[in-house]
Amino acid sequence: MLAKMLSQKALGLLRQWQALANWRDLSQLRGKQAPKDQPKDQKPKGNAKPTTSTADDSKVPEGMLSSTKSVFGPLVDCDRIFQNLYGRHDWRLQGARKRGDWHRTADLIKMGPDWIMGEVKRSGLRGRGGSGYYAGLKWEYLRKVQAKGKVLIVNCAEGEPGTCKDREILRHEPHKIIEGCLLAGCAMGCERCIVYVRNRFYNEACNLQLALAEAYCCGLIGCNSCETGVKLDIIVQRGDRYLTGEETALVNCLMGKLARPRRRPPFLHEQGYFDHPCVVVNTETLAVLPTMLRRGAVWFTSLGSDKNFGTKLFCISGHVVNPCTVEEEMSMPLRNIIERHAGGVCGGWDNLLALWPGGLSTPLMGAACAGQVLMDFDHLSAAGSELGTAAIIVISKDCDPLLVMQHSIEFFMDQTCKQCTPCRDGAIWLPELFSNFVKGEAVPQMIEFVDIIRKKMENSTICGLCDSQANLAGSLIQHFRPLIEARILEYAN
Ligand code: SF4
Repeated sequence: MLAKMLSQKALGLLRQWQALANWRDLSQLRGKQAPKDQPKDQKPKGNAKPTTSTADDSKVPEGMLSSTKSVFGPLVDCDRIFQNLYGRHDWRLQGARKRGDWHRTADLIKMGPDWIMGEVKRSGLRGRGGSGYYAGLKWEYLRKVQAKGKVLIVNCAEGEPGTCKDREILRHEPHKIIEGCLLAGCAMGCERCIVYVRNRFYNEACNLQLALAEAYCCGLIGCNSCETGVKLDIIVQRGDRYLTGEETALVNCLMGKLARPRRRPPFLHEQGYFDHPCVVVNTETLAVLPTMLRRGAVWFTSLGSDKNFGTKLFCISGHVVNPCTVEEEMSMPLRNIIERHAGGVCGGWDNLLALWPGGLSTPLMGAACAGQVLMDFDHLSAAGSELGTAAIIVISKDCDPLLVMQHSIEFFMDQTCKQCTPCRDGAIWLPELFSNFVKGEAVPQMIEFVDIIRKKMENSTICGLCDSQANLAGSLIQHFRPLIEARILEYAN
């Protein structure tokens, strides 16, 4: 039987495994000799989240409010920030004004940058693009920089599989983005703003352009925005690469370079867009800002659990009855979100095999855990996963999970920019191993091989894409190991 199992392909991979083990030993040896020569700031920096900035994650903004709330959702209509998420109403200026956009924006600006930053910090607003980093801390870096030509960059790249929230905002609520740019630009002292829109979002980019033209015509932005003397010019630039979800790759792309992540330092607030200090902000984070300022940090912190305040757009896809994007209160139980808005898992909750709670880059979660967990940054992190972009992708028991594994791991194969060896090699080896698992054309030791590769990939590269691959591979093995072993045995027999 053993002879059957050791097919020619499997033997080849085993040889590669041995080569990798040797390479690992060598690199460990090199690791012992090298550090003295290597300047600290030149070391490859592990960065688990593509969009996080410089500071310690445990820091919270000064003056942030707290909450003891313990029951979350469903969101009542009057607390909804995105009133036209489904495009049922007029998305242009007149319609947006009826829904409250641009209401007393001049008064908000006249309160001053200190007040705006104070409210952002008090509200505990966290990045909605995947990092979960406090906006008040991130924006403060740029605000403190004393330089002319600071640039605010809005990230509408949205390439993460399963994610389609920024697209809905661009399509149906573009004035929220423009107003958010004005208020955030005013708080950080930026006179220029670039909105980076994914190439494929052609209609959405057109809507944004039209909304911008309306805002310029009515004097809402420009040399004298809302007649407050504040200057802000906004342009739309388009591009297409998954990696532009990472902030330094996005800035490189805007500068006409290859969309490859940069080593840090220097950080973007020191040397960003053509050497001008800049900050990259997610679309949803920015679109939430005007309503949060108008209604106040106290209202914002009345929604969601402590340190995870406000509302959130959840994109639900995969094996659910009604895939949708919905705004809900932060920290609402995952199961309630799926059952209330997406009609539940196809075949009932018991038919749930696993799911990704925050897009393909976040670790997979089993059915038992998914039934209990609350959808926010901290609860998901405690459960071993991440909120990411809040793109819930459901896998039911009706499909072949190993095939899903293979497709999901193959996605990263085309996305690596090949700057870092572990990421480049992992993107070749992992899909090959997983395609063997689907057929069963492997030996059980190859499962350990995945673990060796995964550990080698963690925290060793410039950006978080490598860690995303490693996380995904690790969680797939963790959840489907018995199935892989059974498939290998079946093939051998
Ligand atoms: S090789 Fe991978 S980890 Fe390194 S910068 Fe490129 S995408 Fe990021």
